[in-house]
Amino acid sequence: MNRRWPWLRKALLWGALGLVLLALGACAPRGERFSGRRAYAHVRRLVQMGSRAVGTEGNRQAGDYIIRYLKRYGWEVSTQDFAFGDESLRNIIARKGQGPIVILGTHYDTRPLADRDPSDRTRPVPGANDGGSGVGVLLELGRILGPPATEQAEIWLVFFDGEDRGEIEGWPYSVGAYQMVSDLARSGIKPSYVVVVDMIGDADQAIYYEWSSTMALQEHIWGIAERLGYGAYFQKQVRYHILDDHTPFVQWGVPAALLIDFDYRYWHTTQDTLDKISVDSLQRVGATLETLLNGEPFVVR
Ligand SMILES: [Zn+2]
Repeated sequence: MNRRWPWLRKALLWGALGLVLLALGACAPRGERFSGRRAYAHVRRLVQMGSRAVGTEGNRQAGDYIIRYLKRYGWEVSTQDFAFGDESLRNIIARKGQGPIVILGTHYDTRPLADRDPSDRTRPVPGANDGGSGVGVLLELGRILGPPATEQAEIWLVFFDGEDRGEIEGWPYSVGAYQMVSDLARSGIKPSYVVVVDMIGDADQAIYYEWSSTMALQEHIWGIAERLGYGAYFQKQVRYHILDDHTPFVQWGVPAALLIDFDYRYWHTTQDTLDKISVDSLQRVGATLETLLNGEPFVVR
């Protein structure tokens, strides 16, 4: 650049200004849509942390990672710290909006032992799908959720600890979710409904109604998925009865649905790795939940 080319300097200045504005626009969450690609990137980061089983360094790292992103996306974040046996556990709760409370939950701990592995049952589960996919979807929802969703509900994104140590060393499943429900019940705070996602990232995706979930809520969610063109992946028939983090809410009398793709051959094996899940699968679940929360408020009649 020199004085002989004043127009060039001007053009470059305007170009730089344009780039800054573009970058600012890219950061603004308003109008942003759910990105399966971004959800997948979160799962990759989580898997890189290694085992996130209760009490491990990976578990602590994953919790800190979740908190960091939720705060970055403007959520009010708190933790529920509690003990079970000799272990310290931490549920993470992010709140945004006003109105009746709607909880989206998932577990972020992974299974300490791959006790269904065909060859090596001594190693932990890598947890790309089981303990990873749900976190990726909820974190990405955290980035994009705003009005109208947050104008008609107080949305809680909840990341449960201690779901997946069940039947190991005498532990039950869903320790974190039971803790949360007992604390909520004691404080008299009752959500209007709860949706739990778990193992929804399988590249070969098929999500069926779950037997113990609230049928009206499932029909509502599966209807949204169908309208979005995902009918082939959301099957409108009951396939399994599964105990998961929605169970304590169901027992408490709160409408609750579990989204899970339980036909996952790598479940609780060392093969639950990143290559088994897909961007498209995360996209379908994320876009369905995005539409659920931005649409007409759901009320169980
Ligand atoms: Zn599991």
